[in-house]
Amino acid sequence: MAFSLTGDDACQLTLPTPIPSPYWVAFSSSAARLLDIPLDDNGLPQDQSWLALLAGNQLKVSDYQFSKPLATAYSGHQFGVWAGQLGDGRAILLGEIAGQELQLKGAGKTRYSRMGDGRAVLRSSIREFLCSEAMHALGIPTTRALSVVGSDLPIVRETLETAAVCARLAPSFIRIGHFEHYNALDNIIRLQELADMLIKNHFPDCIESDSPYLDLFKNISSKNASLVAQWQAVGFCHGVLNSDNISALGLTMDYGPFGFLDYFQMNHICNHSDHGGRYAYHRQPQIMHWNMACLASALLPLLELQDDSEKALALMRSALDEFPVQYAQEWQALFRKKLGLLTSQDEDIGLLERLLQSMHDSKVDFTFFFRQLGNIKIHVPIEMIPLRNQFIDRKAFDQWLKDYLLRLQSENSSDEERKRMMDKVNPKFVLRNHLAQRAIAMAQQHDFSEVYKLHLILSNPFDDQADFEEYANPPPPNLEAVEVSCSS
Ligand code: AMP
Ligand code: MG
Repeated sequence: MAFSLTGDDACQLTLPTPIPSPYWVAFSSSAARLLDIPLDDNGLPQDQSWLALLAGNQLKVSDYQFSKPLATAYSGHQFGVWAGQLGDGRAILLGEIAGQELQLKGAGKTRYSRMGDGRAVLRSSIREFLCSEAMHALGIPTTRALSVVGSDLPIVRETLETAAVCARLAPSFIRIGHFEHYNALDNIIRLQELADMLIKNHFPDCIESDSPYLDLFKNISSKNASLVAQWQAVGFCHGVLNSDNISALGLTMDYGPFGFLDYFQMNHICNHSDHGGRYAYHRQPQIMHWNMACLASALLPLLELQDDSEKALALMRSALDEFPVQYAQEWQALFRKKLGLLTSQDEDIGLLERLLQSMHDSKVDFTFFFRQLGNIKIHVPIEMIPLRNQFIDRKAFDQWLKDYLLRLQSENSSDEERKRMMDKVNPKFVLRNHLAQRAIAMAQQHDFSEVYKLHLILSNPFDDQADFEEYANPPPPNLEAVEVSCSS
């Protein structure tokens, strides 16, 4: 199994707690392909015992017997404050199939549940399922979701809800918090075992390096720099970028009160428990860098095995300083593509910043705007471009459009080719909160058709999908402010 640490301080063997009368809420045939699960005509597993397995009601399916399900220990910083030990309080790792770890989220209490009930509700499980699969379809690294299995088991949150179990897949669920955990315990042996396990399974190139642990850090940091740039480019706000929610593989993970931007606000806060806006859209890159500093500090003792502390610190510092540089490069490359630019010019950054400021000032819908931008024809008079009607300060936007069109003309951009390229990077469909909310409300009445439909639409986010045009629209004004909290 990919997670191979054993011992009381690393994990505990934990059986899932069964749920009464489980039923399918959602299933991803695309994720199932990773495991090679034979499916029937409805896209569900032919072997019915998958339902019981993914509900946490049995441990055997087809040829697989999961004999050692476990919950792992990790720690972390929450909202910038050291929170001490956390751990898989409601996630149980069943085992590994075809290089993917299979984890059940909401499968009952574990040793790390603290005051929690070890459960997840239908609402949050549907959100995690839809967003994991939507992110994957957008081409953004993420843990996958195989299924949501529901039950009428009542669960107390702010209101009374029902339970669900979301089956997640990832090559590894190791978080920055796992490293922080052993560092906080001063357990260098475990820290080294964890790093070696990750290197062996996921970063084998580090083995040959003169400084494998420094290289491991650089790899994790650059993957997360790239990840956060990709989030910014599709307007995704994670909502809870605590160090225990940051993947060592650079995957988007632990979907909670996340949100895609509807109208653009740089300082948009999607988590209504985040009063200070620590995890606002425009702060995500800086916060990810901060999380990499947590990782750097947790890994430092391993560098000190090789070098004196002063040298180790200097090496780590300079590796950490690479983050903003890598992030900026990636961000610029992605946003240039969003504008349909083929070459890179120094003035592009100014052009982008002016655009984002205008979008912010006029609260322009992020996804809709960039998708429509691809329809512009270089030689059309500015007055004929409908996008300008979305801006309150039209004069400023007209000036921007003029500069943009000149910039396109300077590289002899072809309207047709540019649209084709832009449509590949500017999605038409994202998981807008109001769409998720509608699917959830129906699912809470046992109608899962809208979950199915949304999953289908979001599996092809860059395609036009004429039948589903309304799903590309910004929310009606009364549904703009769907708020999501942590308690799920
Ligand atoms: P999160 O904010 O979902 O990333 O969770 C932070 C910590 O709280 C993790 O250790 C979770 O396992 C734990 N946790 C969250 N919800 C529950 C729950 N309902 N029962 C037990 N533990 C939970
Ligand atoms: Mg978490």
